Amino acid sequence: MRLSDDFLARIKDSNDIYDVVSSYVPLKKTGSDYVCCCPFHSEKTPSCHIYMATQSFYCFGCGAAGDVINFVRLYENLDYMESVRFLAQRAGIPMPEDGGDEGARLRTRMLEMNREAGKFFHRTLFLPEGKPGLDYLLGRGLTQRTIKIYGLGYAPDDWGRLKRHMNSLGYSDAELEAASLLSKSQRSNGYYDFFRYRVMFPFIDVRGNIVGFSGRVIGGDDPRKYLNTKATPVYNKSSFLYSLNHAKNAKQSSLILCEGNLDVIALYQAGFKNAVATCGTAITDSHARNIANMGFKEVVISLDSDEAGQKATARAMGILSNVGVRTKVLKMRGAKDPDEYINKFGKEAYALLIEKAESGMDFELERLKAGLDLATVQGKSEFLGRAVSFISSVPSRIDQAVYIAAVAQEADIARQNVELAVERESKRRRRSDALKERSSIISGTAQRDRINPEASKYPVQVAAERGIIAFLLRSPDYLGRICEKLSPEDFPTEFNRRLYLEIVTAIGSGRDVSISALGEEHTPAEISSIAGMVRENNELPYSTDRLNDYIKTLTEYREKKNRKSAGEMTADELLELADKIRSKKKGS
Ligand SMILES: [Zn+2]
Repeated sequence: MRLSDDFLARIKDSNDIYDVVSSYVPLKKTGSDYVCCCPFHSEKTPSCHIYMATQSFYCFGCGAAGDVINFVRLYENLDYMESVRFLAQRAGIPMPEDGGDEGARLRTRMLEMNREAGKFFHRTLFLPEGKPGLDYLLGRGLTQRTIKIYGLGYAPDDWGRLKRHMNSLGYSDAELEAASLLSKSQRSNGYYDFFRYRVMFPFIDVRGNIVGFSGRVIGGDDPRKYLNTKATPVYNKSSFLYSLNHAKNAKQSSLILCEGNLDVIALYQAGFKNAVATCGTAITDSHARNIANMGFKEVVISLDSDEAGQKATARAMGILSNVGVRTKVLKMRGAKDPDEYINKFGKEAYALLIEKAESGMDFELERLKAGLDLATVQGKSEFLGRAVSFISSVPSRIDQAVYIAAVAQEADIARQNVELAVERESKRRRRSDALKERSSIISGTAQRDRINPEASKYPVQVAAERGIIAFLLRSPDYLGRICEKLSPEDFPTEFNRRLYLEIVTAIGSGRDVSISALGEEHTPAEISSIAGMVRENNELPYSTDRLNDYIKTLTEYREKKNRKSAGEMTADELLELADKIRSKKKGS
């Protein structure tokens, strides 16, 4: 479906970029525009700019850019048409009804299938055949009420029970396989239930949709204790957090990060409604950004106390501090997970544990001391070296001061000496951070070049190509002047050549050529790259002199290509030319 220019203009007019972006991330005013910490890459200093006049955004760190539609597309992870629909709903504008919205249709269908499967599993849990599952859950101390709140269920020990039920509701085997509810047999080419003989935990997102499942094995010979939904258009394990829907409603500023689903549920039942868990993966940058973007300020890390759990804790601290979320580390003695701890010592003891949880810094201090004997000179100096390097990475000056005092006491040295060492290290680090930032911006440029891999081969011509495209996007009435002198073949790089042709065709047939209209045919990364062309040209005057320079660059390149004398030609080019001459002679 092609949306009309009028409709797109209405969508953009009724969704001011400031209103939309600020509903996701806090914006800071700078002049007539705004900046924010980029929601698309991890950073501490804001490099994403929101331009009010052009209603566009541009991140100097990662190159994400575009209009309000591209922002929603990237942030909500929707396709083009879904983003337009999202903004239409936000502004109360009805969508033109003529279907064709394949991505959204597929996602809606998948969510329907998941809901039906969820109902099936839940019902089965309370049937006689669901007894092993119900016994397991009650044995873990869950109440009927908790089981209902989390919609827990049971997948029977049967290869085709869910399949038959879902088929009877009109869902095809292929659709069910795409939703990760069925598997296809390699041998017989038939389909069978993906989850069997398992207690089922539905994954419910913050909008209340079931996006997937985790099944814990109860019997049978499947060696996998937990089995999770594979990646689907509605489930992505690197951003989904289990029970975030409940944690969000708990309206607290902190989260408790646990290892598994059962820990989270046990905590919920004990009154700690802000517990979440990652599913089948360690915490990722995108989990952390989710947490920060939803306004949580602190995460109490409550992972297993074994070696692997300690490693995961240190990792989570780093990832969360990158997005400005404070961390505390909970240390349990006498139990390996929160579930066992609460069963053994009660919920009051656990509440006390949270209250007494050491700050991430104390945890780090313990780690810095690990394996060192502070009574020896070597031990002491090694400890100081590690500590200074760590403290200088702590963003808050107040936290730094607290930490300096602790280290000075620990190592029995004057506080001023530690302070001085931290100061020196901080300075060195700032210098190297500045270098890193610069190289990340440059590599960000290189990343944009993945869109146009030939760009580095023709640096001068590419600047001209980009300039001409920017001119056309800004003032389509230059079309005549440009087309008179240039044909698409004069564009040396393929991406820009296709883009130019597309824009010329659109203007020629009287269509709108805004970034928003181009979004339908391009990926968000391509749109970011095109928005980059407009932005870099916005800083320069839109004069005909500049346009003529660009045209001249491309026409000169064309003439040079045609003029190349035999002496300048490579062997391949010579052979090609010889072929051409020969075939011409044959033809005549
Ligand atoms: Zn960015």
